[in-house]
Amino acid sequence: MNELQKYAKLKGYEFKNNSIYLMQNGFDITVRALMVPQMYNLFIQVERHPGETESQFEGFLDLLKQKPQEFQRFMFNGRTLHIVWRATSKLKEDPISKVINWLTTSLREHGFEPNSHCALCSDSEGIVTDALIEGIRMKTHPACKQGMIQQVKAEQDGKPKNFFTGLIGALIGAAIGTIPWLVVSWFGWYVGVLSVIIGISSFAFYRWFGGPITKRTKVLILFTTLFGVVFANYAIAAMILSSNGYTIELYNVILLYQEPSISPVLWENLGIGLLFVAFSLPYLYRKVQEQETTSLVIE
Ligand SMILES: [Zn+2]
Repeated sequence: MNELQKYAKLKGYEFKNNSIYLMQNGFDITVRALMVPQMYNLFIQVERHPGETESQFEGFLDLLKQKPQEFQRFMFNGRTLHIVWRATSKLKEDPISKVINWLTTSLREHGFEPNSHCALCSDSEGIVTDALIEGIRMKTHPACKQGMIQQVKAEQDGKPKNFFTGLIGALIGAAIGTIPWLVVSWFGWYVGVLSVIIGISSFAFYRWFGGPITKRTKVLILFTTLFGVVFANYAIAAMILSSNGYTIELYNVILLYQEPSISPVLWENLGIGLLFVAFSLPYLYRKVQEQETTSLVIE
């Protein structure tokens, strides 16, 4: 049980998705722990009272600006006030209650009110219910919420899942990606960095062939890249054989890898290729991650 969870239990707050949900002064509030100790995201559902003046609005922002250590960033995103907050004391001294109390009181004093509009259709008519959108508690119409859940579900179901065509693409891409490496090898150079191209090409072809991006994509690209490196090494051996008038067959390849004058070069080439694949993994993984599509989470 982490610190925030313990705190939630102590105070009787709902805890979910590493966040606590509470209501204070009529405001819906989500408090989410950040990876950094004592840092939190605060999400408060607000709207401006029709009578609120610009100077009131500015006055509230000035209050936050006066404590830059505590309120490190703040922004309005629709009817969500998002604050990156650093707690001034340990959680057991309950800085959360203090800051929420202070914030909600200050909001009211500066003409803000708890949001009463639907987060999805922006209408305030009718009954609104609680929904978690990307883990943030908001108000929505039950019908709007159901509609959005259906829509998200339909989008997820509608995505074509061509894992096997993607796999074929990844292998083709890896093979094509070996070409620059093979060309320079043919001229007697070893430019291991070119093995990075194998991974990039493999991933590009995976996408082109409709491969879905899932948690396993990284592992798949790792294996097809390794396949590419081994394939390239085998192709170099095959080139050496054919240029010396030997037929390309497994028996001859095995002999070549044992031939004292050539085998050290082949093994070295393979080793360098694998080493550069290892070096390029963080870059490659980042590329895959950038493509990971995140669909709206609503519950
Ligand atoms: Zn609505």
